[in-house]
Amino acid sequence: MPHAAHAERLKLLWQLATRRDLDEESRFHAMLRMACESLGMELSVLGAINGEYTARYAHDTLGALPEGTVIPKGDAICRQVLLAREPVFIDDLAAHPEFSGHRLVVEAGLRAYAGVPVWAGEEVEGVLSFLRRQPMPEPWSEVDIAYMELVSGWLGYHLAQTRQQQALERHALSDGLTGLLNRRAAEVRLDEELARARRHNEGYALALLDLDHFKSVNDRYGHAVGDEVLKVVARRIEAGLREDDWVARWGGEEFLVFLRNADMREAVFVLERLAAQVKATPVSTGAGAVQLTLSAGIGLPTNEDRSFHHAVEIADTCLYRAKANGRDRVEAQDGGGVLWPAQIIKRALRDERVVMATQPIVDLSTGVVVADEALARVRLPDGRLLPAVDFIEAAEGLGLMPEIDRIVCGAAMSRCAGKLEGGTISPDFIHFVNLSPQFLARRDLVEEMLAGAMSYCQTCGVEFGPIKPVVFEITERQFLRNLDTLEADLKPLLDFGFRLALDDFGSGYSSFLYLARLPISFLKIEGWMIANMRRERKIRAIVESLARFARQEGIITVAECIEDAETAHILREMGVDLGQGWHFGRPEVETPRS
Ligand code: GH3
Ligand code: MG
Ligand code: MG
Repeated sequence: MPHAAHAERLKLLWQLATRRDLDEESRFHAMLRMACESLGMELSVLGAINGEYTARYAHDTLGALPEGTVIPKGDAICRQVLLAREPVFIDDLAAHPEFSGHRLVVEAGLRAYAGVPVWAGEEVEGVLSFLRRQPMPEPWSEVDIAYMELVSGWLGYHLAQTRQQQALERHALSDGLTGLLNRRAAEVRLDEELARARRHNEGYALALLDLDHFKSVNDRYGHAVGDEVLKVVARRIEAGLREDDWVARWGGEEFLVFLRNADMREAVFVLERLAAQVKATPVSTGAGAVQLTLSAGIGLPTNEDRSFHHAVEIADTCLYRAKANGRDRVEAQDGGGVLWPAQIIKRALRDERVVMATQPIVDLSTGVVVADEALARVRLPDGRLLPAVDFIEAAEGLGLMPEIDRIVCGAAMSRCAGKLEGGTISPDFIHFVNLSPQFLARRDLVEEMLAGAMSYCQTCGVEFGPIKPVVFEITERQFLRNLDTLEADLKPLLDFGFRLALDDFGSGYSSFLYLARLPISFLKIEGWMIANMRRERKIRAIVESLARFARQEGIITVAECIEDAETAHILREMGVDLGQGWHFGRPEVETPRS
């Protein structure tokens, strides 16, 4: 190359490197293009090495190596450059023993290769490669090689700078141990969230979480294990949040959780669930499993003060109260003693205030009570009873259903045995009991229940055949996905002689799938159909055909939510077997005689 031409391309390189109007990406692209053209090549690519080879930036007239392509390091043509940490030149790839069969040679027809390492500080950060479809007629000239190295030197310098800047930013904003936002970054983010909440006219909730007795974890296992635990807890909190919500490390073993557009009810729910998750699974560390609990305080903006500082202050006060009240709990700013469902259920379980109510079920043709359904109720400290709709959903979300089912099921069986023994009910009387899939999935609870049933059966004084008087109601609502698992979970119960009722039939998507697959003995027709039957002819027709179908299949039908005599009459005419609802009797809690 003539001297003047070389001087000219150095000038262009310098101009490009110092232009202020380009962002990094465009500058890299322009640089690759310029170098490629000036060297008479068809493809230039800056590949980054990060375990694998990634084509980070490319000027590719052939479309042979799109940006973002990832190949194993060992398969890249530049692997020799990486090994030697020096420039490598191959005049004809097709004649090269290692590369003649390479994809880029066979498919894209590339023949000449030049590659120089890209140094970022002390490290080879990548490789700058040039390729074309013409083999090199003669070796590269000194000036071309010097030019390539100049370009790679410039690229390396900028890569290193970018990397350093990113590291600095990360360092400044995130906590080194957990990788979460640090407190300073969280405060900035809170300002942004607050502005956003104002714009959208939304609320928010935040919470402070503090691990209980964390000092003793450090004391017992050492600081390094303490650190490990903090990392795991950070990941668990992150995993337990919705996409728009986030968590920061607020201090030592204290975390701040932000819940966008959440009200008190949701915030309590999320925090109770996080606390339950942390408590349920000990953290496994190098020193063994560490059992943990946490306390949390929740703060919401108030009408007088919308600032996050105020909400954090409230959360902090509540956190303090949670610690003072014995830890392992979530406390919320409590508007005159109002509790939220999650707290209500947890306290009720703790204080044994989850109780069973029963509602009578009558034979529609005779009007005789032939069965009843056991229902869960929460007795509030003031004696009032909370209906299931007010707490079941929250209990499901918090994983508390197994505990509730266990209590109600136990109570129902004990009552059944007691009444049989006392001769106050006929052996034909049927006891319906609801079971959640979460309960069924708990082997230990199912076994405990079966053992209990066995011993009741031995004491009740009635010799039952293969069919027992308890019928379990299952509903499709919660387990759409795993019918196979459900069948397996139900098997021991069916083997024992319990029968199945399909609850809320008609309320969900897969009612018929369940009906087809499971050995159902009873069909409970959803309440809204019964309630709307008199007004809507089509619903009446559906109920009627359901009754007919069930009869054909030997399935007994139960209509729920019967509130008047006329509905009961219509259902009887249609051939529905049993009925329950306010018309026959409300759920009642029996108070044991003392
Ligand atoms: P409680 O909150 O239930 O009142 O008891 P605690 O033992 O957790 O007490 P406190 O919150 O006052 O103390 C926090 C402890 O957490 C003290 C400190 O040694 C430990 N800690 C804080 N930051 C870290 C950390 O980054 N790594 C480790 N391993 N421990 C930390
Ligand atoms: Mg603590
Ligand atoms: Mg603390």
